[in-house]
Amino acid sequence: MSVATQVLFEFDDSYARELPGMSVPWTATSVPTPSLLVLNEELAAELGVDPDALRDANGVALLVGNALPDGVSPTAQAYSGHQFGGFVPLLGDGRALLLGEVLDIHGCRRDVHLKGSGRTPFARGGDGKAAVGPMLREYVMGEAMHALGIPTTRALAVVATGQPVARETTLPGAVLARVAASHLRVGTFQYAALSDDPALLRQLADYAIARHYPDAAEAPNPYLEFYRRVIDAQASLVARWMLAGFVHGVMNTDNMTISGETIDYGPCAFMESYSPTTVFSSIDHGGRYAYGNQPLMAQWNLARFGETLLPLIDENPDAAVEAATDMVNSFPERYGSYWTSGMAAKLGVPAGDRELYGDLLTLLQAHQVDFTGFFRALSAYLRGWPEPVRSLFGKPEAFDAWADRWQVLLGEVDRHAAAAAMDRVNPVYIPRNHLVEEALTAATAGDLALLCRLVEVLTEPFTERPGLERYALPAPAGFGPYVTYCGT
Ligand code: AMP
Ligand code: MG
Repeated sequence: MSVATQVLFEFDDSYARELPGMSVPWTATSVPTPSLLVLNEELAAELGVDPDALRDANGVALLVGNALPDGVSPTAQAYSGHQFGGFVPLLGDGRALLLGEVLDIHGCRRDVHLKGSGRTPFARGGDGKAAVGPMLREYVMGEAMHALGIPTTRALAVVATGQPVARETTLPGAVLARVAASHLRVGTFQYAALSDDPALLRQLADYAIARHYPDAAEAPNPYLEFYRRVIDAQASLVARWMLAGFVHGVMNTDNMTISGETIDYGPCAFMESYSPTTVFSSIDHGGRYAYGNQPLMAQWNLARFGETLLPLIDENPDAAVEAATDMVNSFPERYGSYWTSGMAAKLGVPAGDRELYGDLLTLLQAHQVDFTGFFRALSAYLRGWPEPVRSLFGKPEAFDAWADRWQVLLGEVDRHAAAAAMDRVNPVYIPRNHLVEEALTAATAGDLALLCRLVEVLTEPFTERPGLERYALPAPAGFGPYVTYCGT
């Protein structure tokens, strides 16, 4: 049953209109008894829609795919992708739909997208469904990232379908409504580059430039400039992940956006004790997407992106390869400069001293120190309270020697002001794995209280509040090793 409802969103369909062949019109599989589990009221308001209207039956029908959006047809988008290094020419939205695009209250075009809305022509062997737990996980992780100031797609709502989903066990089904600056991926360009139509690639690039990097159109070589902008956005994004201890877990080229937003919260998790080899994903046996490999993998993906742009960058293939290679080789320096300035802020120091940062990371790893907890304990040290941070180290003298060098860099700066500045960039609360699991287990069993509480805590990550002590602590000793899953 698909019926048009009152106009909630003024949808547009520029992607389908301007890029024929890059998506197919499709409708969601309707579900008999949808019920709204969570609604992101702040995001709804940003989209210019009344949250109460989304809560009523018509709103929920739209958010679960039972009602058609006004004026546009939903589409399943086509894309390719390198999955763990192997190229898959045809992936696409197997269980997702682009409902439509809306202009938010700031005039920015945003995609409203459904995930778990039934099989599409790209479903291959998949059932097109999603379970409550993983969709709520995407909600929690996206909100946490947003509150940390890290560019991300965000969940607008999760609606339970009332239908079972067969996984290792039978789970309750759900549809996630996701909002993104766009769903253009590196894999989208890989798909267009494979098509027999050379004009399509140019149209796609022009579309992406107009939507995300409009000034690039004015550059002497707009496509090379576009490439530079995407490389820079990803360098900045991945630096932020690293500074927050975030492990994406499945950095395939179909999961890397052109906009520079984090997308596809599958097997992601936050690292606790510092180790570059940290991996959570059940299928990442070789550690390809381990915490410490993320910058390298981002650059690898961006090289694949550059390959798709070659015919646009220069009609002389050798010149195109040279220009694109130089550009992608700028990634490490861009990344390094974002990371270094981020680390300086985390430590409250003005200038970049990479050796001091490197030595700190070596210490944190050797003493298995909680990455998030360390930086808040360090600001307490500046307030004249050295024991919390010293006690994180098996041999506190090793920390003392490092702290002496750090203090020299701090110079004459006011210690309390520096501590306050550090606390503005170092979170107290991150989505700790044991807390996420606890909340999702309860939510899957029908109790959303812990989940709502967790989201509330994570929405204000930098402000320590009384009564929330357990949200700031690492997992208890018996928890883990923590394993996460893709495609759930
Ligand atoms: P992901 O690992 O979520 O990035 O998904 C990789 C690809 O598998 C995408 O093309 C998805 O649309 C597809 N996919 C994942 N799960 C399912 C499912 N249950 N049914 C259909 N397609 C799926
Ligand atoms: Mg994906």
